[in-house]
Parts: sequence; structure tokens; C-alpha cells
Amino acid sequence: MSIADSIRKLQKELPENVCLVAVSKFHNDESIMQAYDAGQRVFGESRVQEFISKKKTLPKDIIWHFIGHLQRNKVKDVILNASLIESVDSERLLQTIINESEKLKIKTRCLLQIHIAKEETKFGLTQVECENILSNPKYRKNKFIEINGLMAMATFTDDESVIKSEFKAMKDFFKSMKMKYFEGVDSFSVLSMGMSDDYMLAIECGSTNVRIGTSIFGVRS
Ligand SMILES: *Cc1c(COP(=O)(O)O)cnc(C)c1O
Repeated sequence: MSIADSIRKLQKELPENVCLVAVSKFHNDESIMQAYDAGQRVFGESRVQEFISKKKTLPKDIIWHFIGHLQRNKVKDVILNASLIESVDSERLLQTIINESEKLKIKTRCLLQIHIAKEETKFGLTQVECENILSNPKYRKNKFIEINGLMAMATFTDDESVIKSEFKAMKDFFKSMKMKYFEGVDSFSVLSMGMSDDYMLAIECGSTNVRIGTSIFGVRS
């Protein structure tokens, strides 16, 4: 299927309240423009240099989500260029984002990335670490960041029951954080989960933001 057809298929298939992030890492400007011309506006990138150089040449109305592991010395570049950082995976990184945003006098929107997968290789906070952040007014009511929700990646496995139980656990955790710390606060409303192989399952389990690369652009080389 062409990139444009994949976008149109997803636009039809996804519920209206779900944001489609087209994950364009490793793909060139031409591929991104095919998705753009089919109406896609939200794109996800995971490497800082690649993201910055693409953003320079591509249309200005693209909304960029940063979805990769972010080193603290590259925070400034990313907060100046991304609409949302989906992958805040440590308290130290969050603090750096606050400090850099304060210097620039901007407010940076971000999601806290939770580690739910079995693999050690995936980044993320434990639920306890996440709650320590959210329960702290210094972060929750900060002038320089806005925590919009949570992000997670499921275990890489063919066993749907494992993936489903991880997504369900995330939904429950999200709901409990919302109730405890953001009751009636609309800005905390994003639950980012689901990629090419598991996005339908993720949506069934309450995802509001899916990050899809391979199903749109093909396999990355
Ligand atoms: C690469 C990546 C995706 C997209 O994965 P696909 O399987 O290609 O859809 C989603 N989320 C994150 C955090 C990624 O790094």
C-alpha cells in the first residue's frame, strides 16, 4: 500500500478522539511529504539531529512529537522544536526540561514514559517513580512544564494476552493518577500507547495517542 493510502486508511479506522502520530524516524523528506499531502500533520521523531534537520526543511504547520530517549545535553534543541515530548523517562530529565524551559521563558508539554514491558532495554519510570513525580506540586503545578499524560510501550511479543494485560494496567494506572492528582484538569488527558502491531488493541484499552511507523512508511532500513 502507498504511504498516502496507509494514512487515509488509518484516518478512517481510528476513532476521532485518537491522535495519530506518524513515526517518520529513518524515513526521508519525500516519504514524509507523501503522508503530509494525504492530510497527516502530526509526526514523531526519536533522534535529535535527524529531527532538527528535518524540521528545518519541512512545512511549518507540522506538529512534531519527540518520542525517543532524550539526553539531557540535547534538551534545549528539543524543547525549542517539539510540540510534545512523549518520552520523559527520568526525574533528572524532567528537572532539566524545567530548567531549560525557564531560561527560555517557555512552557514545555510532556508525557511521562512508564516502563511496563518485560524487556530491560526499554526506558521508562516505574509506577512508583511516576507517582512520586505527579504527587509533587513542584512538578504538577510548574510554570515551565505541563504534564499532559503518560506514554508506554508494550513487550515485544506475539502473545496478545501479555500486551493486552500491559495496556490494561496502564489504563488503570492512568485513571488512578488522573483521579488522585488531576481531577477536573483537562490538560492531563493523553494516554499514548500502541504502535504498528498493537494499536487496535491499545485503542480498545483506552489509548488516545498511537505512534505508528512501519504500517505507514514500511520497514526502516
Ligand atoms: C519507532 C517507534 C514507534 C513506531 O513503531 P512501529 O512499530 O514502526 O509502528 C512507536 N513508538 C516509539 C517510542 C518508537 O520509538
